[in-house]
Amino acid sequence: MPANRILVTGGAGFLGSHLCDCLVAAGAEVICLDNFFTGSKRNVAHLLGNPRFELLRHDLVQPVMLETDQIYNLACPASPVHYQFNPVKTVKTNVMGTINMLGLAKRVRARILQASTSEVYGDPKQHPQSESYWGHVNPIGVRSCYDEGKRVAETLMMDYHRQNGVDIRIARIFNTYGPRMAVNDGRVVSNFIVQALCNQPITIYGDGSQTRSFCYVSDLIEGLWRLMNTEGLTGPVNLGNPAEFTIRELAELVVELTGSRSRIVTRPLPQDDPVQRQPDITLAREKLGWTPSVPLRDGLAPTIEYFKRRLAEEAGPG
Ligand code: NAD
Ligand code: UDP
Repeated sequence: MPANRILVTGGAGFLGSHLCDCLVAAGAEVICLDNFFTGSKRNVAHLLGNPRFELLRHDLVQPVMLETDQIYNLACPASPVHYQFNPVKTVKTNVMGTINMLGLAKRVRARILQASTSEVYGDPKQHPQSESYWGHVNPIGVRSCYDEGKRVAETLMMDYHRQNGVDIRIARIFNTYGPRMAVNDGRVVSNFIVQALCNQPITIYGDGSQTRSFCYVSDLIEGLWRLMNTEGLTGPVNLGNPAEFTIRELAELVVELTGSRSRIVTRPLPQDDPVQRQPDITLAREKLGWTPSVPLRDGLAPTIEYFKRRLAEEAGPG
């Protein structure tokens, strides 16, 4: 039977709202669950009148009972600024929230996909990072609530699979950007674009030589969908765009594409900031037939247009 009832936790967030769009368009009945910590109703407002879409305000730390065929577990703040705002809550969301979703998956026999992260590799000593690398994570630092929270979530997924036969998928998502990131999200792409559009200084943390690999949202959503709907892939799968950039290169590209008058300034590097990050996507290529298609320059253009609209809305008429 095709999966028709699909639960998306964190569905009002950046990635979750795009996933809801994709699933509704494919004909599924979607329940979007969110506590609106970093997500917003605005991201799914266009879906509210659709009879196949339901919005549920709920905190994943509390159990929830409903019927579903598939669960995409995305609920968790993803920006360091927001996941460090209440680190204990971040751990609870990753641990108790994931237990609640795995318990639900077990009860209703749903397939569950966990949104994991490249952060499970920490400050990686292997480059690029493949799924077999165990990572280099500080267990007691300011990023640990997220990194270790996601690592425990992966552990829980594997243990519910081994112990209870739950049908699981684990996506290790690398830095993804695009429209519907919040203006105050705090991650690098949104910060740089908002700063550039406001002609404010562009804040590079450290000397800007650290690297990240940026994936456009439409590519990532396609990868999540393929992973969920491919048989026999229980272990983690990297999803990201292998094109790697220094943070200074990103700043310069954003200045060029926005035509901004902003200066580039430096600020202290946050604790435990990873030096380099690039996904090895061989597994996703071979097993999912998936490869990202949107280069950074092409993905930044619609993202910049989105932030222009958001900033104009916030400024109000006149
Ligand atoms: P986001 O902050 O925009 O979305 C997270 C959503 O989860 C928000 O709507 C938020 O309100 C909701 N949420 C948080 N805590 C919750 C709770 N306790 N109960 C219910 N809802 C809760 O972030 P995003 O970029 O869309 O990330 C989505 C998922 O993907 C996260 O799990 C994140 O860790 C993972 N991820 C994202 C990236 C990326 O680059 N975007 C990279 C790696 C992993
Ligand atoms: N960063 C930056 N300026 C900002 C925000 C972030 O230089 O205004 C840097 C940050 O220190 C990190 C990189 O950009 O090296 C990516 O940061 P982000 O918070 O987007 O994601 P993560 O560190 O979780 O990959």
